[in-house]
Amino acid sequence: MAGTIFRIQSHKFSQDNIQATLVCSKCDEIFSKEFLLDLEGQTIEFKCPVCGAAGEADLPYKSAEEREEFEDDFEEAEEEGSNEEFEEEY
Ligand SMILES: [Zn+2]
Repeated sequence: MAGTIFRIQSHKFSQDNIQATLVCSKCDEIFSKEFLLDLEGQTIEFKCPVCGAAGEADLPYKSAEEREEFEDDFEEAEEEGSNEEFEEEY
C-alpha cells in the first residue's frame, strides 16, 4: 500500500469540482488540487506534485449546508414530482 497520505487541510466545493488544500505526509509541503465532484467521499490515489511520492487522500463529502446551496430547489421539485406521478400511474 502507499505509505504517503495526503491530509486535507481545507476544501471548498464549487459547481464543477472540489478544490482542496492538502498536506503531503512525506515532504510536509502544502499544495492545492482540484478533483471532480464525482470523486466526493472517495479515496483517491495520485502523486504529490512537490516530491512525487505516490499517496492517497480521502475526499470529503459535501456538507448539508453546501448541498442546500446548490441542490435545494432541485430536490424539492423532484420529491413533489415523483409523488404525484406515482399516484396517477397506479
Ligand atoms: Zn510530497
